[in-house]
Amino acid sequence: MAKTSGARPAADAAVAAIDGERLWRRLMSMAEIGATAKGGVNRPTLSPDDVRAKRLLADWARARGFAVSQDALGNLFVRRAGREGAAPVMTGSHLDSQPTGGKFDGAYGVLAGLEVIEAIDDAGIETRRPIEVAAWTNEEGWRFQPGCTGSLHYTRQIDLARLAGVRDWNGVGFAAALEECLAALPLPVHDGAIPSAYVEAHIEQGPRLEAAALTIGVVDAVQGSEKWLVTITGEDAHAGTTPHALRRDALQAAVAAIAALGALMADPADVMRFTVGRLVVEPGSPNVVPGRCTFTIDMRHPDLAVIDRLSARVPETIADAAARHGCSVEAKRLAHVDPTRFDPGIVAAVRAAASGLGLPHMDMISGAGHDAMHLAKICPSGMIFIPCARGVSHNETESATAADCAAGARVLAATLLKLAQS
Ligand SMILES: [Zn+2]
Repeated sequence: MAKTSGARPAADAAVAAIDGERLWRRLMSMAEIGATAKGGVNRPTLSPDDVRAKRLLADWARARGFAVSQDALGNLFVRRAGREGAAPVMTGSHLDSQPTGGKFDGAYGVLAGLEVIEAIDDAGIETRRPIEVAAWTNEEGWRFQPGCTGSLHYTRQIDLARLAGVRDWNGVGFAAALEECLAALPLPVHDGAIPSAYVEAHIEQGPRLEAAALTIGVVDAVQGSEKWLVTITGEDAHAGTTPHALRRDALQAAVAAIAALGALMADPADVMRFTVGRLVVEPGSPNVVPGRCTFTIDMRHPDLAVIDRLSARVPETIADAAARHGCSVEAKRLAHVDPTRFDPGIVAAVRAAASGLGLPHMDMISGAGHDAMHLAKICPSGMIFIPCARGVSHNETESATAADCAAGARVLAATLLKLAQS
């Protein structure tokens, strides 16, 4: 194909070369790995299915002549070379999923990135900077905490020593699982270069775009969040013989604590998000008073001051409730992420790309956390959202339309191309 010259015609040619059907086929093929009976995906990070997913991506990329590499955290990178050895423009997302996840969360951003570099290739465009597509390890954070491990490590916010003690819910160590995956998919070592910019495409995972009948969300911020792990300790006792006055029932304490936390976090404006998504009762016998109860807290808000104010009251709120049941508490804050403001220049570039393509769009904040919020610490970053049906995500029925997936890829192509030529 003839080489195009000039920024505008090149962008038009790349956008025109986006192949929505190819992108859709790849999304459906990727979703076969870890497919669930209800049409979703169960692809735990650093599992054999995670390796299969990364291998499939690597195969597609190498078939097109793109360089594939991996770093010490198992982050996988697909690179389309640039004219100069300048810092790359990066895009990407993740291939791991929640246990009852959908086909699009994460996989969309990775495969839209691959579609963009293929389209730029198909259009015969040479870019000044290389363009790299990343598949970040353990974005989801359900098997190992904290989530976004791969992007946290890439952006020097966490080191391997800190991850040494991290285990999944079955006691498997992060380091052991990582080592197995790296051995199963040997690849050249990535250079760890700091990108000149990062733009991630993702499904919205919320209902706002669909409700407003818009195709593109121009994401200007991500709300802040904290994750906690709470262990309440009482005493195992016989369910038939132990008087209530003598019990130290860890589950009753946990129920009281969760109710008190719910009241603490209650927000009439419905902006604050508070979730207890996991509760483990031990020993877990129907006729034993539970002696130990572990639960997680996920709390989020766009305003750091609100998170800090509520976070400061978490330990005492739980301790008061537990004390009423004679139990002791260990409350550990596992992660704190400040709200992220994306770079105004990247946000403007995404907005201009959507406008230029005549796609209806709006600026919005992301309710969910993403790898992009960590990349924002080392380079100008931003995100592109497309709608998902009823806003449902982290759910096997999660769905997006082929047309919206293609539209998001076109916005990504126009944005990345502009950044890759600067
Ligand atoms: Zn995701």
